Amino acid sequence: MGLLYIVPTPIGNLLDITYRSINILKKVDFIITENIKHTLILLNHFSIVNKLLSLNTINEKKKTNQYINILKNGNNIAIVSKAGTPIINDPGYILVKYAYRNNIRVVPLPGACAAITALCAAGLKANQFCYEGFLPNKKKKCEKKIYSLRKENRTIILYESPKRLVHTIQLIKKNMGVTRKITIAREITKKWENIQKGTAEQLLLIINDDIYWKKGEITIIINGAKKNNKNIISSRILKIFNIIKKETSNTTAIKITKKICRLNKNVLYNKIIKKNIL
Ligand code: SAM
Repeated sequence: MGLLYIVPTPIGNLLDITYRSINILKKVDFIITENIKHTLILLNHFSIVNKLLSLNTINEKKKTNQYINILKNGNNIAIVSKAGTPIINDPGYILVKYAYRNNIRVVPLPGACAAITALCAAGLKANQFCYEGFLPNKKKKCEKKIYSLRKENRTIILYESPKRLVHTIQLIKKNMGVTRKITIAREITKKWENIQKGTAEQLLLIINDDIYWKKGEITIIINGAKKNNKNIISSRILKIFNIIKKETSNTTAIKITKKICRLNKNVLYNKIIKKNIL
């Protein structure tokens, strides 16, 4: 029986590969990759010569049995993705599952992963976090998903396309509140690495008119909801406050909004008036 190695590769900076990964990629009998062209660039850079097999979301089911047979015949295989850690929003899960079914040993190597790298630099709590991968493509489903995460207390990690970034940040503002802290990490480990922190409003000011935020690879980290949700000032609460404010003084508007939205004492005053977020 051969071994199945899970080998992470860099998410930008080629120096982020480990010595062990290079050794394994050199000594295995085959390398399974999501993207042959991309992996060849990596192998050439490190003077690794090996046989490549393809595994992508389209052929994953069909190819898995074939690759399990190769392992059963005593060959060692390494699986890599286009970049980062295989299986994490990349192909390979079925292969690993079938490897266990066939008593094939799975050997994981630690290494680059955009989610964890961005989380470490987010300036947000990382003791407990949830990884949500990509949000659904359809707009309604996407908003539903963000709404469902509004009370999540753990730090939330999302992968996002630059084309949808502005829309997603707007949805976070609408559903999670205007004071929610967010970090957006673009092109980490690459030449144009850029990490920005702020509320949705502050981030929208940065990304709206910047062409660099319209391309590249992006990971979003969202601060978890405070345990006491009565402290969240959502855009719905702000809307109510603004309508009432038009008819009366700030103090009365705060009192009425507080009652309607069942907010804790002074939350509106502290967050809206003191911090001047209107
Ligand atoms: N398996 C990979 C990993 O371990 O990071 C993730 C694969 S997923 C298909 C690709 C997504 O990861 C990108 O669309 C982006 O959201 C995020 N990503 C990858 N590289 C990144 C980088 N250098 N900076 C920020 N986000 C990145």
